Amino acid sequence: MDTNINLLDLNVNVLQEKLEALGEPKYRTKQLWHAIYQNHIGTLQEATTLPIGLRKILHDKFRLGNLTQINELASKDKHTTKVLFGLPDGHNIETVLMSYKRRRTVCISTQAGCALGCVFCATGQMGLDRHLTVGEIVEQVLWASRKLRVSGQKLTNIVFMGMGEPFHNYTNSIAALNRLEDSSGMGIGARRVTVSTAGHAKAIKRFANERRRERLAVSLHAAEDKLRDKLMPINRRFPLDELMAACRMYSSITKRRISFEWALIDNINDSEEHARDLCALIDNIDCHVNVIPLNPTDQFHGNRSNEDATMKFKSQLDQSGIPCTIRVRRGLDISAGCGQLKSENTGGTS
Ligand code: SAH
Ligand code: SF4
Repeated sequence: MDTNINLLDLNVNVLQEKLEALGEPKYRTKQLWHAIYQNHIGTLQEATTLPIGLRKILHDKFRLGNLTQINELASKDKHTTKVLFGLPDGHNIETVLMSYKRRRTVCISTQAGCALGCVFCATGQMGLDRHLTVGEIVEQVLWASRKLRVSGQKLTNIVFMGMGEPFHNYTNSIAALNRLEDSSGMGIGARRVTVSTAGHAKAIKRFANERRRERLAVSLHAAEDKLRDKLMPINRRFPLDELMAACRMYSSITKRRISFEWALIDNINDSEEHARDLCALIDNIDCHVNVIPLNPTDQFHGNRSNEDATMKFKSQLDQSGIPCTIRVRRGLDISAGCGQLKSENTGGTS
């Protein structure tokens, strides 16, 4: 009995081996793959291209997915839906679906919790429970696709910006990217996918050397080591010199524009001098800066910058000719910030 096997964890070759072991011809693999990744079936019974007998055998032998929905919240404006999923071993993760005019973006988790401990981040405050499997990462996108289909809509973008550090779970994150982009399955264009890292310089170089075609976002938040060490402990392992060298290497190999993320924290990293330091740091890199107003979290006492400081910060970047966007805060009324729903459900971090 294989009931502990999640079909979403299997690549197409392994799935084929499993079906062949059941005496099924090759084309059944294609039908099942199609049902899962193109028709987004929620249960094996819905795989109506397969004979009923086979559906039943598959249902008895395997699982289709690991996620159980625990809680779902929609923002008042209905543009943001956030769901808390339970994993079979009792851990929780979050996924957020955001609907814009022309884009429907799902923000997915790559780990339950996170080991990197950025002080302003609700997920970092929890610590790491475990890496997610390939199937658990991909299933969040299937959930979003299913949800959108009900209202006749399609998913357009994916951001790896939920709980966890994708490059700490590198192998599974990359395998998930390959699965999502597989043209015989979901066929999502790499340019519609963004992977965000807290600055794992070694993995950024690997990502560049592997010629990955997704968009890369790097969370900076500080332009000098002393402050960044305090905010983001990963900076002690990969200080800014090393991180920026990796970003420059990424740029020169891939010729792709990097997004730098900067959460503005009142009186911590939001002065015009901070902005000038940032401009100097990223000078000559083809990039875009996303300024994110800080989302309040339980265990970090910093506040979000006021509007005046935010505009002054942006105008320094404008003056240096660096494209910069102040990101709209979405779903604040449903704690749509990374890791926040879980904190609320468990009564805080542990
Ligand atoms: N681990 C990856 C991706 C997940 S976090 C990373 O750190 O990049 C996604 C983004 O949310 C990162 O830019 C992160 O710095 C930011 N973030 C985390 N907590 C935040 C908070 N309280 N307010 C604003 N942005 C936050
Ligand atoms: Fe982890 Fe990203 Fe949160 Fe830092 S910001 S603790 S890397 S999830």
